[in-house]
Amino acid sequence: MEHVNTKEMNLYLIRLGEISLKRLNRNFFEKKLKNNIKLKIHPYRSLLTREKGRFYLYVSKDCPEEIVIKTLKTTFGVVGFSKALVCEKDWPVIVENAKALIENEPFADDTGSFKVECRRGDKSFFMNSYQIEAELGGVVLDRYPDMKVKVKDPQKELRIEIRDKAYMYTSPVPGPGGLPVGTAGKGLLLLSGGIDSPVAGWRIAKRGLKQDCLYFHAYPYTSDMALQKVKDLARIIAPYNQGTNLIVVNFTECELWIKDHSKEDEHTLMMRACMMKVANMIAKARDCRVLVTGEALGQVASQTLESMCFTNSMSDIPVLRPLVAMDKEEIISTARQIGTFETSILPYDDCCVIFSPKHPLVRPEVDMEQKSFSDMNIDELLAKCVAEAQEFEISYHV
Ligand code: ATP
Ligand code: MG
Repeated sequence: MEHVNTKEMNLYLIRLGEISLKRLNRNFFEKKLKNNIKLKIHPYRSLLTREKGRFYLYVSKDCPEEIVIKTLKTTFGVVGFSKALVCEKDWPVIVENAKALIENEPFADDTGSFKVECRRGDKSFFMNSYQIEAELGGVVLDRYPDMKVKVKDPQKELRIEIRDKAYMYTSPVPGPGGLPVGTAGKGLLLLSGGIDSPVAGWRIAKRGLKQDCLYFHAYPYTSDMALQKVKDLARIIAPYNQGTNLIVVNFTECELWIKDHSKEDEHTLMMRACMMKVANMIAKARDCRVLVTGEALGQVASQTLESMCFTNSMSDIPVLRPLVAMDKEEIISTARQIGTFETSILPYDDCCVIFSPKHPLVRPEVDMEQKSFSDMNIDELLAKCVAEAQEFEISYHV
């Protein structure tokens, strides 16, 4: 264990959920989670220990609490967390510490019901549990007059244990749940500026898949603002994903080629096929074992089962579609929750502005489309796209 003086540190209790149920490889999951948290809190010092299915996170006091809270809210594997305090069993000191503790979530919003729950291991302490609960309840009400005491099923709790010292903590603030990012390996997310793909990336990151991102830009048909929007989206999801690399491919030449070398009703489908092929090459070069897209069954013409079967045939690694069975409304609700929605709806052009056929093929046949694809003779251009791709590193810091 690192040598640190935990007195100079703030303490948080972290609930682990699913990963604490793992048996043989629990260590693997926990180690990843520890590393993910420590990296995001760095350069501030932190120390994590494990006890009874929980993590105890110590963070040096110079780290703003906001950073710790944002970190824990964006780290998959964290089911919930509470700030905790340990102090001397001196009543004025306990009251001061209780006051400090309730300045944070979950109390800070001054709403709902609460209770104080005391366990007094040290029976020689001069107040009994009931007195302690009543006094500290008064401290909470002084600070948050709109809150109500509720003994059964309160929304929030302040817990105190009087043992060798006084230990205080609040009921947990929810974390994002899921599995630590990186435990499922790495994939490549096709990230557009739309609503769906950032949500798709977030959902599958929640199951432990770390992702690089790939964006097809059609400059100058799509503006620098469109690229900026995608960078902003990548930045919003990056903390959940432990950082990411955004790869930007200039797709203009390919799209113009498609326009000149395929039938109008096939344009969109051919563009999707080219995207898959380019993504496939980039993924393999970067050790990404799957592609991830924001497609949902039946959402648009290029997302019918037939279209997906055709585009799948362009990739020899699996294509994961985390949103395949979700309605737009459900996707939008997640987008709002993770904070990508407002950016996604900014009105900058999509890369298919170069063409949008009036009647795109809806039920393509795989064999026929594969022939159309090879007749385009576009492979050289695709390879050029890959060779000229640009890369931007996006930090995991909150
Ligand atoms: P999104 O909201 O994610 O853009 P969409 O509903 O607009 O999705 P499409 O435009 O048909 O649907 O795109 C389907 C999927 O293909 C996207 O979710 C994304 O994964 C990928 N994709 C589309 N355009 C691009 C692009 N310019 N760069 C990278 N990936 C893209
Ligand atoms: Mg789109």
